[in-house]
Amino acid sequence: MSKLKYEVGHKEEEGPKAPQPEDKGIVAQVDEIIEKALESSATDLHVEPGPGETRVRMRVDGALHQVATFPSQIHGKLANRFKILGAMDITKNRIAQSGFFKVQLEGQRAECSTYVLPSILGEKITVNIQYKRGFELNLEHLGYFPEILKGFKDALAKPHGLVLVVGPPGSGRTTTAYAALRLLNSPQKACGTFEAVNKYELPGVVQGKPSFQGDFTFVDGVKALMDSSPDVAYVGELQDPEVARLVIQGAFSKRIVIARMAAHDAANALVTLMDMGVQPFLLTAAVNAVLAQRLVRRLCDHCKEGYAPPEQVINEIGYRMPANAQFFRGRGCAACGGTGYLQHLGLFELLTLNEKINETLVARKSQGEVREVAAQAGMVPLKRDGVNKAVMGYTSIEEVLNAL
Ligand SMILES: [Zn+2]
Repeated sequence: MSKLKYEVGHKEEEGPKAPQPEDKGIVAQVDEIIEKALESSATDLHVEPGPGETRVRMRVDGALHQVATFPSQIHGKLANRFKILGAMDITKNRIAQSGFFKVQLEGQRAECSTYVLPSILGEKITVNIQYKRGFELNLEHLGYFPEILKGFKDALAKPHGLVLVVGPPGSGRTTTAYAALRLLNSPQKACGTFEAVNKYELPGVVQGKPSFQGDFTFVDGVKALMDSSPDVAYVGELQDPEVARLVIQGAFSKRIVIARMAAHDAANALVTLMDMGVQPFLLTAAVNAVLAQRLVRRLCDHCKEGYAPPEQVINEIGYRMPANAQFFRGRGCAACGGTGYLQHLGLFELLTLNEKINETLVARKSQGEVREVAAQAGMVPLKRDGVNKAVMGYTSIEEVLNAL
């Protein structure tokens, strides 16, 4: 008996034909695959038809693992089961389709976007899984040095303005943004978010997302969010000129706007916004601070040891290190599954706007110059933050260099 509980999608009873007795086995097997995916916090699931067999793989911590194979003869039935779950048309198997279902496993809730790709050997099924999680981290848990944490909190404490959280995908930006929202959220404030996917749930915060059907777009949502007079607004992706315009405009009202953005570092984010058509004088007036970040693995405390990295690694650091600088690595033990790492840590760079930086932006100077002026004003670059954390033994120097 499966422990899964399906909430929406799953239009079995309306399907064109009642399930055949032998299909019961398929239902149980697909349930088993989904259960395994949820138990291992997989982010996506791939059911791929092959010449001899169908393989099922899932992505856990960024890497794909094969979890099952099935004889090719039942591939069509497996695919149909996923299509039924996603409320798709099982009478059609030569067209691309997409669907959606919600599922629960022992209190863990997940939303599954499901896609069908017709291939020469049959339909490939992809399920993207989004977990609905409460959010309980404080900013203090994310690994800031005190000066950066204070600067970031100061930027959030201003009566209005834009605070950007930037980095590549997978750099922990959503976690930072939610920790910031959690800090600002209170019964006296109206807080709202608009995101492509709602990774976390935060009680007291109104969280929106675009419709799956595409009739309520991201831009529609950001506009509606700003119109709803929030004191604190979070925009999940600042990716195009229209969203940039809404976010900048929104930050001039008496509210804090937090926005997540894809950018290499803080200076890159500011210049990218100007490339999107944001006027420099609006940018400098709206932005309180830009926090750039990366996520690295934290060294396992149980098996951490000092070591001297190879010369080539030291050269790659690019900073002159004191001769006695110590670095660390994880030997690997039972506690960390032999990897030497346990949990994660953020690397951060905080650019707080000041008059000098504003002048550089208004003069439309290069990213390099913006970076330079920010460093003169005391900004510790991401790489330096990482090297400092490596020297203190929080992570390895290799992990820092890989992340940048
Ligand atoms: Zn260990």
